[in-house]
Amino acid sequence: MKILRQLSESIGVSGAEGEVRSLILKLIEPHVDDIKIDTIGNIIVTKEGTGESKLTVMLDAHMDEVGLMVVGHSSKGMLRVAAIGGIDERILPGKRVLVGPKKLPGVIGAKPLHLLGDDECDSVVKIDALRVDIGAGGKSAAESKSPLGTRIAFDTRYEDIGKVVRGKAFDDRAGCAVLVHTLRGGRLPFDLVGAFTVQEEIGVRGASVAAYATKPDLAVVLEGTIADDLPKEVDVSPTTELGKGPALSLMDRSTIYDERLNRWITETAEDLKIPYQFKQPGIGGTDGGAIHLSQEGVPTVAVAVPCRYIHSPAALLNKRDYRNTIKLVSAALERFDEDVLRR
Ligand SMILES: [Zn+2]
Repeated sequence: MKILRQLSESIGVSGAEGEVRSLILKLIEPHVDDIKIDTIGNIIVTKEGTGESKLTVMLDAHMDEVGLMVVGHSSKGMLRVAAIGGIDERILPGKRVLVGPKKLPGVIGAKPLHLLGDDECDSVVKIDALRVDIGAGGKSAAESKSPLGTRIAFDTRYEDIGKVVRGKAFDDRAGCAVLVHTLRGGRLPFDLVGAFTVQEEIGVRGASVAAYATKPDLAVVLEGTIADDLPKEVDVSPTTELGKGPALSLMDRSTIYDERLNRWITETAEDLKIPYQFKQPGIGGTDGGAIHLSQEGVPTVAVAVPCRYIHSPAALLNKRDYRNTIKLVSAALERFDEDVLRR
């Protein structure tokens, strides 16, 4: 849980993943045989196998998180912003943020309720009309403290609250944490490539480069995925549910996951009595979308920790789901043999 906390509290809005990258390098360095940072900023590590198998298995998790980018400055020193990744504008006003690498505190401005007209109460303020206030006082101060292109992240402290933990960026720091733990495990018969990728949230860009460079024989994408298990008036299937175990995917908007690999994971879970669930098909996408189309095609599967309220300032995940995801991924890798791909 300590690793998850560190990863959640560090900042890496897409294209500016430096802080997360440095943290991950510290966490994995003694446990892998080779570390590369490629031209786009992915961390690609190799943990050599015992040599019994010639396969290369890729484990992927993306380092970046959704956030905002400064795209202008008003005469009063407010920051105009654009969204980086999928952000729901309705949840932004009034939120605390950290601006730039120096983490300047700021707030996403909201008009006081007292001044709202009736029509404004019922409408959503579009992101173009929102301003981030860092107390700059004037345009030139705002420009020097927070130049164009500066990334802005949610300001959220990680908290342990009973069965769950609350924090930002569990999509995909939960996956990064599972990957860190897996790399810290023992040697396997095959080479393990760990890819901590950049720019997933704006179009799985780092993963395209990482898969092309490492030519894996199969890939396991580790994610923090959407849980949507709040009570509803109309009974629709939840996407995933907290507490029901790691989530596997059949199909999403980026790929149809490999059936043989899903069978390998579910059989592992059943043998070890680890609970698991399938994510509602058709929703979202992962780095798997890029990886499975790389080279001559890469069989790909995804294992994810269900997270409520992802892409918002405060997500929740169940601690048992998180631990079971680490357990399931390690156990599946330990019992992997090449017959899985021949079935
Ligand atoms: Zn993600």
